[in-house]
Amino acid sequence: MDDNNSEDPRNENRQPNNSGPQFPFGGGGGNGGGPKLPDFKPFGSWKFSIIYILILIIGLSLFNYVFLSKVNPTIDFSEFKALISSGDIKRVEMTDSYFTGYTTADKPQVSQNPIIKSPYSQAPESVYRTVPINDDSFIKLMDDKNVSYYAVSREGSTVLNIIFSWVLPIAFFIFIWRFVMKRLGNMGGNVLSVGQNRAVIVAEGDIKTRFTDVAGVDEAKDELVEVVDFLKSPQKYIDIGGKIPRGVLLVGPPGTGKTLLARAVAGEAGVSFFRISGAEFVEMFVGVGAARVRDLFKQAREKKRCIIFIDELDAIGKSRINNIAGGNDEREQTLNQLLVEMDGFDAATGIIILAATNRPDVLDPALLRPGRFDRQVLVDRPDLKGREEILKIHSKPVKLAPEVDLAIVARITSGFSGADLANIVNEAALLAVRGGRKLVAQCDFDEAIEKTVAGLQKKTRVLKAEERRLTAFHEAGHALVAAFTKNADPVQKISIIPRGMALGYTLQMPVEDRYTMTQSDLLGRIDILLGGRIAEEMISGEFSTGAANDLTKATDIARKMITDYGMSARFRNVALTSRGSGIPAAERQEPMFQREYAETTQQYVDEEIARMVEEEYAKTKETLSGHKDLLNTLAEKLLEKETLDEKEFRELIGMAA
Ligand code: ADP
Ligand code: MG
Ligand code: ZN
Repeated sequence: MDDNNSEDPRNENRQPNNSGPQFPFGGGGGNGGGPKLPDFKPFGSWKFSIIYILILIIGLSLFNYVFLSKVNPTIDFSEFKALISSGDIKRVEMTDSYFTGYTTADKPQVSQNPIIKSPYSQAPESVYRTVPINDDSFIKLMDDKNVSYYAVSREGSTVLNIIFSWVLPIAFFIFIWRFVMKRLGNMGGNVLSVGQNRAVIVAEGDIKTRFTDVAGVDEAKDELVEVVDFLKSPQKYIDIGGKIPRGVLLVGPPGTGKTLLARAVAGEAGVSFFRISGAEFVEMFVGVGAARVRDLFKQAREKKRCIIFIDELDAIGKSRINNIAGGNDEREQTLNQLLVEMDGFDAATGIIILAATNRPDVLDPALLRPGRFDRQVLVDRPDLKGREEILKIHSKPVKLAPEVDLAIVARITSGFSGADLANIVNEAALLAVRGGRKLVAQCDFDEAIEKTVAGLQKKTRVLKAEERRLTAFHEAGHALVAAFTKNADPVQKISIIPRGMALGYTLQMPVEDRYTMTQSDLLGRIDILLGGRIAEEMISGEFSTGAANDLTKATDIARKMITDYGMSARFRNVALTSRGSGIPAAERQEPMFQREYAETTQQYVDEEIARMVEEEYAKTKETLSGHKDLLNTLAEKLLEKETLDEKEFRELIGMAA
């Protein structure tokens, strides 16, 4: 794969801050291996250089102090005069700013330079220095005492003086400045033009990834084919007045091929590909994230037709509402800029924004509004068939022993993502090399899987055989009850591929929007929810914890029926909970135990819930028991195929479409 994604696909709860820098454009551009993105604390390095500058300044003043100025601490002028009167000072050197008195009469021959003529060069000599006061009697005093005196023009020392007090410090500053700039430059280009930094976001052209490189996510591919078609011939859509999606959100767990799909779209359509990770926006200086968004879109507009892929959208797109602690200004600015840019361009320009996230639930609702990421494509973990295809794709360049059966490998890797499978193939190849084999054998695969499973079991759920079987019956139970319940939404998909915390799932699709539900509709829902547990009980004679979530939902419905909808025998037509100011109970933020009825009523509600659920349980169990063979067929088929779509399900239970 030419995808150089370096993230750990198994890291479920990635935090943008520790995902580290990504270098999406490794080989791109003529920039010597591609620009590195900043991974630095800007203030850290500034502090660093400030310390250096401080040291420099202190050093320079010390230097000045020691070599350029006072030889001795200056003495008072009166003292100086006294030393002359007493005959201690034999010679006085006068400059504009100070007089220096020497205890020897001989003028040194070396130089007039106060720097070089240090007191140390003529050992026994004492040197006194004073700041002169305008004193007419001073010259006379020196004449009287036979002190030789002479003025020293500072001319002689100018060059050195200038070098020491000006050139050197300036040179040092320039050196430090360049040093700092270079460091910053390495980390993100020129600091001063960080906003329009061309080096960081680079479009990739000529992408080799195709849809055939992606397997097991057929539904997502089907949806994206349309995007490709639009990018290829936008005019077709514009002519007919159709609306083209602007943003498509790829939703799915890590490692399922979201990045790969986005690249494949660009590859298939033959357009440029901009990839940026949400985390990269936020890690930067304040204000830079927004600037980068602006720059990204500016570049994209220049390209006319291209894909912008924003990985980890949740890093910038987290809901602003939930931001209790004042929030992250930087992220908000970036998000706002993104929203502005997305609204600002005409879809006819041929720019399509793809984004990926595994947390669609935390996204700011503003991002999901029409005209933004209004289309969501689910990129889920692959089923049995999908896994086999992915294994085939990835083992193409690998030399396999003839006995290797990828179908078997696929069968024992339930719950693995595409990235996990790619990893297994690679791992198996490495094991073969280590074992000194020329071809990758089945045992290499087995060992590779074992290794991966151990790591996976902590993070995602990999079901054991018995768990899988129970899950299959559980889901078959839900589906079957749904099929027998009048007015229930038809079953769209049954799966025993773990998703999030659920071991499996049964998807029902409403035929039409529902605004009201009848009492029997609600009871039907309870039946379907109970169906899973009943099926489990029927085959194992036991209850498992797997149905806890179903029970919560069923109980909730039952309670609402009694307290909110007035559907119990005693409180027919009475709503027991207050509905506030007309706000539906679900949207109101109420305290936990808000109850507006008597203790005895509460007891009745509890008992009524229990009675209602029990009644439905018995009823549903009877229904299911009458179709035990169907339940078995369905569960076995699920164990074999892992997912069943609507058509397969209908065929299995002999229901006409
Ligand atoms: P995501 O972006 O969803 O986290 P990636 O697209 O980065 O996942 O997948 C990482 C790698 O795993 C891909 O480069 C590819 O090698 C492999 N991979 C993941 N899903 C698939 C798939 N459906 N088909 C083929 N390879 C896949
Ligand atoms: Mg990715
Ligand atoms: Zn269930």
